[in-house]
Amino acid sequence: MEKSIVDYFFSLVQIDSESKQEKDIALKLEKDLTALGAEVRFDKANEKTGGNIGNLYAYFPGKVDKEPILFCAHMDTVKPGIGIKPQILKDRITSDGTTILGSDDKSGIAQIVWAIKEISESNISHSPIEIVFTIAEEVGILGSKNLDYSLIKSKFGFALDSRDVGSLTIGAPSENDLKIFVHGKEAHAGVEPEKGLNAIMIAAEAIREFPLGRIDEETTCNIGKIAGGKATNIIPNYVEIEAEVRSHSEEKLQKVTQQICSILEETASKYQVENTEGKIIYAKVEIDIKKGYQSFRLKEDDEIVTLAHKANKNLVLPCTTSIGGGGSDANNFNQNGIKMAIVGTGMNRVHTVDEFILISDLEKGAQWVKKVIKIYSQM
Ligand SMILES: [Zn+2]
Repeated sequence: MEKSIVDYFFSLVQIDSESKQEKDIALKLEKDLTALGAEVRFDKANEKTGGNIGNLYAYFPGKVDKEPILFCAHMDTVKPGIGIKPQILKDRITSDGTTILGSDDKSGIAQIVWAIKEISESNISHSPIEIVFTIAEEVGILGSKNLDYSLIKSKFGFALDSRDVGSLTIGAPSENDLKIFVHGKEAHAGVEPEKGLNAIMIAAEAIREFPLGRIDEETTCNIGKIAGGKATNIIPNYVEIEAEVRSHSEEKLQKVTQQICSILEETASKYQVENTEGKIIYAKVEIDIKKGYQSFRLKEDDEIVTLAHKANKNLVLPCTTSIGGGGSDANNFNQNGIKMAIVGTGMNRVHTVDEFILISDLEKGAQWVKKVIKIYSQM
């Protein structure tokens, strides 16, 4: 294996792994983890997600007779993530400015693997350890959604997938994805506009009434995409809108979703036109609601938070907890009965070509994982 965590991180980010193309990095990780003494296998999640390999599951047996502890990170990156050329600039690692760096989430992967490497080399007795490296996190947390949870014996764990080293995210919202179709009626815009129902106009009228942006401290709503119409001389008969609602409260999530549906239906019901046979044609709305992910909230005095804070104190890191605004693999693990908090790795400015990580943070994150394993094994 590589000589330092920096070299190891370099080797990982140089393997292209945009979402659903994780096979190359997964095979390298399988090799490294096996060499460190793990039993490694892949599930079949990719048969559902359309990727080229499944989620990686690794089990390290331990001499301390306890339930295992779980660490998780995702193998895929966002775009542009092909041909990443990492470089060291003073105290940090960056890309060459044409791609992302991939510290989201390869810093997490490197820290987990490196901590285990150091633990196995130092002969410290530890509890069994489980690792899940997921696929397709960045495209709707699909890997963890389709993970074979029967493989996992841990009751709790950490997803290394946020910013400041040691900082904990202990809650995240639920999300509803809305696909909205507004149907009007086509007509020649110059010759007989009165025979048409303009779907763009109806959609616009409804959207003006939508509750958008931050609704309260727990709830947000956004329209992210709209498409419709064919040409300026045709009254458009069709508009497609994509929107989302997020909330830490299930009740508010349903309320805002319902509000959007009612606004659309009420607006559409105001518009009708007679066709050539004298039949009344009404504007119509179809709404397809899908649950994107399920919220979770861990308690401040949960064992998992206490454990993380013990490690933080030991490494002189601040003991902060916060509630996140987005969905991640942790949502799916928590939904499947495995308590999971999200912890920082030092990744910065992720999803941009300015992404970077401080070398000291990359190293500190591995020490954090090591410390958590040690403390847990002695608890
Ligand atoms: Zn991530």
